[in-house]
Amino acid sequence: TILVTGATGQLGQRVVHHLLETQGVAPESLILLSRDPGKLSDLSARGVQARIGDFDDAASLGQAFDGADRILIISTDAVGEPGKRLRQHLAAVSAAATAGAHIAYTSMLAPEPGNPVLFAPDHYGTEQAIKETGRPYTIFRNGWYQENLLMTLPQAIKMGTLYTSAGEGRTSHIAREDVARAIAASLASGSTESITYQLTGPEALTTTDVAALAGEVAGKQIPVVNLTDEQLLEGIKAAGVPEGFARLLVSFDANARTGSNSLVTDDVATLSGQQPLPLRAFLESSKAALIA
Ligand code: NDP
Repeated sequence: TILVTGATGQLGQRVVHHLLETQGVAPESLILLSRDPGKLSDLSARGVQARIGDFDDAASLGQAFDGADRILIISTDAVGEPGKRLRQHLAAVSAAATAGAHIAYTSMLAPEPGNPVLFAPDHYGTEQAIKETGRPYTIFRNGWYQENLLMTLPQAIKMGTLYTSAGEGRTSHIAREDVARAIAASLASGSTESITYQLTGPEALTTTDVAALAGEVAGKQIPVVNLTDEQLLEGIKAAGVPEGFARLLVSFDANARTGSNSLVTDDVATLSGQQPLPLRAFLESSKAALIA
């Protein structure tokens, strides 16, 4: 039996889709977790077990995880009170170990100490805790989603400038759908080895490359302006973004600059049998959102 937490979320829904439709997992062999299982009623009508579970309520997780052979812990929202997310993940890891399950987890590329992304320690701490349980595990270090670009590119296209502090740093953006397909394939394979995958897109691009591609799709040139982290922070705050979130956004660019988002692996194709989507194709399919 495979259990998926975060099953109502954007990634979780697609993992569940690929487990059922691409991998042919029987609905009766799936357990899905939510703080509000009513949101999963369409799937429970098909025979999937929807269970209540909240990482903030560690006591609820014993029952929630009971009987699961393989548990995918999808990381919770990165924005919130400091320390909360790691606490949530550690509660989930501990309950998954108590259930005697194979533990799978959605991490990020290169989360080791020194990574400037403000939430990197949450992922590293969770990975370490998983390894310390002694249970077999699968860690998915996920690359930067192509979808994240839809938070910045439409504004850049509208304003005519893309501000960055990533310099010449490259990022191997990946479509969320490719991540979901690869994770589902791994979960369904039943493999019992402990392994860390690095799920990346097919090419590592600089911000200038990304702006050029987006410009081609939008039919408009998007000049890139390179700033320091401090200048970028001031600019984002001046646009009305709260300080904490602005610092998080700048930490993403700082990370790209270091190159730790630039890895390109074959792991997605190896797991799913399908090549990951190039950024150009993603942007073309998102044209309406880009020029909104
Ligand atoms: P969503 O916000 O769509 O979903 C988050 C899920 O987490 C929901 O299904 C929610 O379930 C669950 N959740 C939240 N809090 C708790 C809790 N206390 N206990 C149990 N479950 C909880 O996120 P996405 O699917 O878009 O993303 C999933 C994760 O992927 C993110 O949280 C983030 O860690 C990571 N991510 C990575 C990106 C990248 O570029 N690599 C980009 C975006 C996200 P419910 O409300 O039903 O309880």
